[in-house]
Amino acid sequence: MSKWETGANRSIIILMASRLDVVEEVRLSYEIPYVTGKGEVLDSVTVQINEKRKGVGISYALVNSSEQHLEDLFPSDGVDWLAQMTRLTLHDLGVDPSRIILQLWEYSPAYRLYSVEGRAPVDEGRSTVLIILTKTPFVYKFGHALVLWHQAMHAKDRWDYRFPAAHPLVDAGEWLDALWHFSIDGRLEALGKPHYSRSERLEEAVAVLRRCCPNEDAAARAYQLCRELWGSETTYARLVEMGSGLGLGVGWQGSVPERS
Ligand SMILES: [Zn+2]
Repeated sequence: MSKWETGANRSIIILMASRLDVVEEVRLSYEIPYVTGKGEVLDSVTVQINEKRKGVGISYALVNSSEQHLEDLFPSDGVDWLAQMTRLTLHDLGVDPSRIILQLWEYSPAYRLYSVEGRAPVDEGRSTVLIILTKTPFVYKFGHALVLWHQAMHAKDRWDYRFPAAHPLVDAGEWLDALWHFSIDGRLEALGKPHYSRSERLEEAVAVLRRCCPNEDAAARAYQLCRELWGSETTYARLVEMGSGLGLGVGWQGSVPERS
């Protein structure tokens, strides 16, 4: 075979490379496992990386996995921008893991696995931050910046060992999230970054407490917790303690290991 033919073959291979090919598989483990409906305990996930953009591994979770569909839903330019923003946002918060993975979900009512706002699990060894974003009307309305900063702050709390490394499917629970959000959005506000307002978060907490603790004065309690948590760093242990004061438990148990 001549050199010319080798070159031509190479260019054909490059042309045929798909954005949906799996270029790497990464196995991530977590301190808090997810228990399935059948009682199966999952303490790790294997993430398939489809592309590397701006130093970030991109993983696509599509309902219709055709190249054209991907291009329409997540055009290359947009994903480059999102990858760069993800890295910069985490870096701004002092989170510089050896690996960042951005998993992009296509919203479908049939696959309501994650909340619309996304997820930001950090692995047990604190080497990888996985940011999960779902492309939904929610994201269009409020923009990616708000969602990214929000998820990055959740990741920072896990990264700094204030919160446990939970499997991406583990749901922290409504009330715990509502309290955690006081801390997160207050800190984002102090940094001048996109965030939800204090009144939006109060509204969320009042609604949750009204459902969870019908015997409490939900509004008064939410104001008191907001005053205490808004803008200050908190821990999983502290929120669990606050919840138990209200008679609330968490659906999953776990402690956070000491930073090694
Ligand atoms: Zn959140």
